[in-house]
Amino acid sequence: MDNANYDALLSATQATLQRVAVEFPSAVLASSLAAEDMVLTDLILRAKLPIGIFTLETGRLHAETLAVLASIRETYGYEVELFRPQAEAVEQYVQQNGLNAFYDSVDLRKECCRIRKVEPLQRALSGKKAWLTGQRRSQSSTRATLDVQEYDAAHGLAKFNPLADWSEEDVWHYIRSNKVPYNALHDKGYPSIGCEPCTRAIQPGEDVRAGRWWWENPESKECGLHVVDGKLVRIKQATTPTTSSNL
Ligand code: SF4
Repeated sequence: MDNANYDALLSATQATLQRVAVEFPSAVLASSLAAEDMVLTDLILRAKLPIGIFTLETGRLHAETLAVLASIRETYGYEVELFRPQAEAVEQYVQQNGLNAFYDSVDLRKECCRIRKVEPLQRALSGKKAWLTGQRRSQSSTRATLDVQEYDAAHGLAKFNPLADWSEEDVWHYIRSNKVPYNALHDKGYPSIGCEPCTRAIQPGEDVRAGRWWWENPESKECGLHVVDGKLVRIKQATTPTTSSNL
């Protein structure tokens, strides 16, 4: 790997996090508890930055993903905040459509994501001025135009993707050289991790997000946390609508 490039990337990311902490005192990291988010978690907690960390506990996460919460507690003494879906909404969806109705249509899948992820995210971001994600440009076609800083018009706040320029190799170099705890699913063929019934292991050579909602077309493969009818506006360039996490 190109160490000079990696060092520059790391310095730039640390500078971004410092800037976010100063300019946006209530900023929060939306962590999916996957590798990228563990890099950011490590950087934030080691530097003792005043950036909160939360995760969307959808009720359908893998046991390995939930185990990461305990690893963070043991390693850093930090308690990740959990946002859960509203029980009545989940109950109604399951009663009307079935527990795993997300396999039946894109609409039913998006409705499940809306109940278990999008609405809890809105609560998590309420009153915030900025949020951060572990998204990277090279993760998928839906993230190819990602910038480090964007304006999330749908939620009305700044959005930072401090690892936008990082490669998968950079992420794993950081994790290994800093002994960062990570999700055991990554060693079982899961580069991208979401809810248990909607994520499968991938084969060598497949797109890193091929295991997410694998039964759908690539264009529809986002959960609504980062795609909001073209309302996610990029700051540096023209207002090209973009879709964009491990979440
Ligand atoms: S990823 Fe699957 S189980 Fe999780 S909220 Fe979306 S549709 Fe529901």
